[in-house]
Amino acid sequence: MPIAQSVRLSRPLPLILLLLLGAGFLVTTLLSYQASRTALRDSIVHTELPLTSDTVYSEIQKDLIRPILISSMMARDTFVRDWVLAGERDVSQMTRYLAEIMEQYGAYTAFFVSDRSHVYYQAKGVLKRVSPQEPRDRWYFNLRQMNEPYEINADLDMANDDRMTFFINYKVFDYAGSFIGATGVGLSVEAAVALIDRYQQRYDRAVFFANRAGEITLSGRDGGLPGIGSGRSLRDVPGIGELIGRLPTHDSQSFEYERDGYTHFLNVRYIPELDWYLFVDKHEGRMFDDIRRALRVNLLVCALVVLLVIVLVGLVLRRHQRHIAAMATTDVLTSLPNRRGFQLLAGQALQEARREQSPLTAVLLDLDHFKQLNDSRGHLAGDEVLRRFSADLRDALRQSDIVCRWGGEEFIVLFKDTDLPVARQLAEKIRQLAEHARYPFDGQDISLSVSLGLTRLRPDDSLDSLIARADRALYRAKQSGRNRFCVEGD
Ligand code: GH3
Ligand code: MG
Ligand code: MG
Repeated sequence: MPIAQSVRLSRPLPLILLLLLGAGFLVTTLLSYQASRTALRDSIVHTELPLTSDTVYSEIQKDLIRPILISSMMARDTFVRDWVLAGERDVSQMTRYLAEIMEQYGAYTAFFVSDRSHVYYQAKGVLKRVSPQEPRDRWYFNLRQMNEPYEINADLDMANDDRMTFFINYKVFDYAGSFIGATGVGLSVEAAVALIDRYQQRYDRAVFFANRAGEITLSGRDGGLPGIGSGRSLRDVPGIGELIGRLPTHDSQSFEYERDGYTHFLNVRYIPELDWYLFVDKHEGRMFDDIRRALRVNLLVCALVVLLVIVLVGLVLRRHQRHIAAMATTDVLTSLPNRRGFQLLAGQALQEARREQSPLTAVLLDLDHFKQLNDSRGHLAGDEVLRRFSADLRDALRQSDIVCRWGGEEFIVLFKDTDLPVARQLAEKIRQLAEHARYPFDGQDISLSVSLGLTRLRPDDSLDSLIARADRALYRAKQSGRNRFCVEGD
């Protein structure tokens, strides 16, 4: 049995390594995850959403500026004013004028409402008379009260496939500055709606407009926030509802809120031309998936590296410890186990013999007149004899027999599962082996002999008492002339 196996391996070093490496990897991985999250969040809050807001805003402005200009031009047109002041006599003149405007500028509609007659003129003729009692005409009477020269109404145009249309309602004044009616055009905001749709689909963000009351006034074809279409109020939306009173009165502002378990990033911009707010909303759902996946892969790789390092360190340590254990228990000259190694092996052998109730015999060997050999042929010759004899001794015995160098020119052998009669034969065999051995050194053979002391293990024996008896037997063998074996006990 290899002696090293009986030496216990120490565990603290791999455990400390595991903790240090694990903690180090974990901290750096989590820090880099946090840094990526922050960078991504910053780019969304400070770049992506404001940029989307800018683009949608400028598209809306582009859509609005044209109809405002056309309406302003109509309101200042001398023909319109002269025709009203002259008593609105030839209706065909006005309808021709409105038809011309529509054709010239690609407007869906062009209109004039006279304040004197309350007649609503269209390109097709007289549409109706506006009345303060009619809810659909309320815009006109509101416009009259306003200080601003015009207002913008965004509405679905029923006459045009429900397309989102901006109506510009411009006040018309006579040459003395008195209010004489309202004129303007209605133009499509298709381009803005298409842009909103594109941004929503391609960049996975919600884009929509809402008025001061928080009602959604304009969104892409598929609505604004998922589940919150046009006409719905933002006050009912958890997270945004609370923001309604805190919206910016100029420029844009960023908000963060929680909805459906996700953090939402929101950019809100006030659009003075419409007195509306433009909302650009993006939630962390999918955008953090990539860095979360990277985090998981990182952690897995770190765990594997830590595991690999621990296994490698464990293997190296085990080899190293085995080597040290082997060195500590092996005799350098003969490569046999030394006294320390013997203690370990013998302890186990004795236990085994007791457990299995098998016989065990101990033999102590001492080379005869070894001092003489050293003195006559030199110390190196003595070493050579020890080396060669121990090799022969080992070869002559079974693998299971325990053969050790006890010290100096003494050896000890434990015959496992061997009773005294067999052990006697083996002792004789060893004696003859020594007697017949011829070890050449410096061109001259060295011969030797050995004395042996035998004893068998008794039930009440300790290792010491067993060896003490073998030693007594050896002493007798020496005393009775050497080159023989003696037995102590029966
Ligand atoms: P005896 O027959 O009574 O055993 O006589 P002996 O000379 O063998 O006994 P003693 O104990 O007097 O001498 C043992 C000698 O073995 C003395 C010591 O120098 C020598 N010796 C012990 N270890 C070594 C060793 O490793 N190499 C060599 N060359 N000699 C050793
Ligand atoms: Mg001796
Ligand atoms: Mg001796």
